[in-house]
Amino acid sequence: MGSAKKLRDLVLAKYPRCIYCNGLSNTIEHMPPRSMFRGKQRPKGLEFGCCETCNMRTRNADLAASFVSRVTITPSGTNEFNEVKGLYALIKGRIPELYSQFSRSQTKIIKAAIPGPYVGFTELVEINLGTPVISRHLTAFAAKLGMALYAEHTGEALPEGGAVTSYWMSTYGVNRERIIETLEMLPMYETLKQGKNVANDQFQYRFNTDEKTIVAALSDFHNSLYILTIASAVPEYHNVPKGHPTQAKTPLGGIAHSLGHTA
Ligand SMILES: [Zn+2]
Repeated sequence: MGSAKKLRDLVLAKYPRCIYCNGLSNTIEHMPPRSMFRGKQRPKGLEFGCCETCNMRTRNADLAASFVSRVTITPSGTNEFNEVKGLYALIKGRIPELYSQFSRSQTKIIKAAIPGPYVGFTELVEINLGTPVISRHLTAFAAKLGMALYAEHTGEALPEGGAVTSYWMSTYGVNRERIIETLEMLPMYETLKQGKNVANDQFQYRFNTDEKTIVAALSDFHNSLYILTIASAVPEYHNVPKGHPTQAKTPLGGIAHSLGHTA
């Protein structure tokens, strides 16, 4: 048996139920996705069982989150620039309703206004993070992340009746005091690393958990996109007071629905 197949079998044995809908797992889900990492050099870890339907139907959420996290006016080099350009081209093909909202600026001014934060792509494109289309995709990504971290730290998929409360914010919208407050509640730290490849500048999170019913985490993608997730199997934890404009609650099995899939 090849080592890739072996790893796949191990992951599917560990997570026989899809971590997003509790259906039968038959694919491997990487959360965060490879596209989040420079050169797709994603360290091993955070691999889960997932059904093919969830895997396919939520991949545009991954794409949107990778793009929003990695787009910058100061790319680290030609490779980074070209990769982000590649993500942009993928969005054009796969999420045209999102692509059509990006506006090409005639000026070289990058708007970093609040409310309605903007990030710049080279000097030509403005992306308004305040629109419903981007919000839908980032909320779906946040729910995925919450369910994945729940699986990672409890050892199994979120059960029926479980849900994720999440909110996301970009660097431009960050209330730093709030982040520090949240960080203080989250004592543990993780990132992805494999040998010398430590990806903490691309993805890291602080979290707290009872290892049974709840996993709360604040994740940082490229020091640009921050996502708070509270994933719980227990309904008492689902009613989090509204504290942020992007806050949403997504039940197990509800991610594809939030992206517009009805069946
Ligand atoms: Zn599924």
